[in-house]
Amino acid sequence: MKVLRSEPWREALRKDMKAKERTDIPRVKMPELAPDVRSHNFEEVNMGLTAEQALLEAKRCLDCPDAPCMTGCPVEINIPTFIKNIERGNLAEAAKTLKATSALPAVCGRVCPQEKQCESQCTYLKLKKEAVAIGYLERFAADSLLVTSYRLPVTGCQLADDANHANPINQTNHSSDKVAVVGSGPAGLSFAGDMAKLGYNVTVFEALHEIGGVLKYGIPEFRLPNAIVDVEIENLKQLGVQFQKNCIIGKTLSQDDLHEMGFKGIFVASGAGLPNFMHIPGENLNGVLSSNEYLTRVNLMAARKPEADTPVWLGKRVAVIGGGNTAMDSVRVARRLGAERAMIVYRRSEEEMPARLEEVKHAKEEGIIFLNLYNPIEYIGDEKGCVKAMVLQKMELGEPDASGRRSPVPVAGATETIEVDEVIVSVGVSPNPLIPSAFRGLEVSRKGTIIVNQETLQTDLKDVYAGGDIVRGGATVILAMGDGRTAAAAMHAALRE
Ligand SMILES: Cc1cc2nc3c(=O)[nH]c(=O)nc-3n(C[C@H](O)[C@H](O)[C@H](O)COP(=O)(O)OP(=O)(O)OC[C@H]3O[C@@H](n4cnc5c(N)ncnc54)[C@H](O)[C@@H]3O)c2cc1C
Repeated sequence: MKVLRSEPWREALRKDMKAKERTDIPRVKMPELAPDVRSHNFEEVNMGLTAEQALLEAKRCLDCPDAPCMTGCPVEINIPTFIKNIERGNLAEAAKTLKATSALPAVCGRVCPQEKQCESQCTYLKLKKEAVAIGYLERFAADSLLVTSYRLPVTGCQLADDANHANPINQTNHSSDKVAVVGSGPAGLSFAGDMAKLGYNVTVFEALHEIGGVLKYGIPEFRLPNAIVDVEIENLKQLGVQFQKNCIIGKTLSQDDLHEMGFKGIFVASGAGLPNFMHIPGENLNGVLSSNEYLTRVNLMAARKPEADTPVWLGKRVAVIGGGNTAMDSVRVARRLGAERAMIVYRRSEEEMPARLEEVKHAKEEGIIFLNLYNPIEYIGDEKGCVKAMVLQKMELGEPDASGRRSPVPVAGATETIEVDEVIVSVGVSPNPLIPSAFRGLEVSRKGTIIVNQETLQTDLKDVYAGGDIVRGGATVILAMGDGRTAAAAMHAALRE
């Protein structure tokens, strides 16, 4: 097995490095495309660490015996092991460690909120220093597997001989039982990977014409290129996972059809793709649409090209309502599509924003205008029925609400009217309602999420398990993936009884 080229500075750092020397190394900065360049294209903003940066950052890891970082990872990646393999220059082993528990490391390395997960548990925080950049290192190691399929981010490295092979985990052929997955987002893909490794015959049914769920239809290219998701999907195909696109379970195939086809277990991972609206006057005007529609058209339907069958309106004064990742993605897409005034309208202050800090920082650098502590109360249309302005209510912060964040309270009589020609509503999502209504006897909460046993993710139907956003009602990629792993382990145990 080849390793990274040996260099004197690396050897010197490796020899007898004491903890003090490790902790004195500053956290690496991710190289980024310049804001004035990237705000006009869809190129990936974060460019990936160089080998030199990654090796130095890996040295910061203290290899804590109790590995607190691992407690913050829902898929239980062996974080110190993969980082120490980077430090040794053995990228193939590092990637293998990632792949052992994560079906999508190159995806997670890009979009996971590490600052709230693994990095939030890092010992460095107790030392009042910045956490080890676990996410950046995860991306670095995972990308080493993608080298031929994607652009090479690991300059100055030699990759291990087997680095480009799909998945280093050996398949164990316990069973050839057929299991079905409804939905090809991170929950479904993670479940499919684990079940395929256990030797099951796995088929993933996807309603759309692309595999990947939100990873494809929601998160834009400049944060997560589709090519990255495709390579991870290819890895699953090489493990034997079969994909059936354009197949809506509950319409194209029913619950009974799945049973007749011989599926012994079904994992429902159909996500939360139903957009919420605010039900305020003018929301039905032309030019007011949901983030889901906007992003899906741009990401999956080539809508940014004028010749597309279903183009999107290229607004010049675009307001995006909301403060989450979806809102940040939408406003940054609008900017890239030529919006001169691309605005975030958020009813609380920046401190309460649910979006990742990095996304807010990137958005600001790209010239996005933040109208915090404002809430739209009405959209005004022109004579053709197109939105031309919005009335904003000024807000202030009150007492903390159920979410623990200070609640937004209207300031009496304080409104402003602002000209807009496009409004993108990004105020949350609800569970996709089809499966809950199409599967007889499936217990569903008032909010439309599927109710499961918290430990096994089994529903009240014995052979049906569920996880990801359809259970959580809008969460994160890594939590969805963790659910996929939990359900796979539980279904495997049940099928073996
Ligand atoms: C724009 C956007 C940006 C985000 N950014 C981040 C981020 O940076 N970091 C992060 O951690 N999380 C982020 N999230 C949240 C994250 O993407 C989701 O929590 C995650 O994708 C949920 O995974 P899932 O597998 O449960 O569902 P999904 O990814 O929604 O996948 C569900 C799939 O099921 C399919 N489906 C639905 N019904 C059926 C049916 N009846 N038959 C067949 N197929 C069906 C859908 O078409 C879809 O492909 C973002 C979400 C959005 C919308």
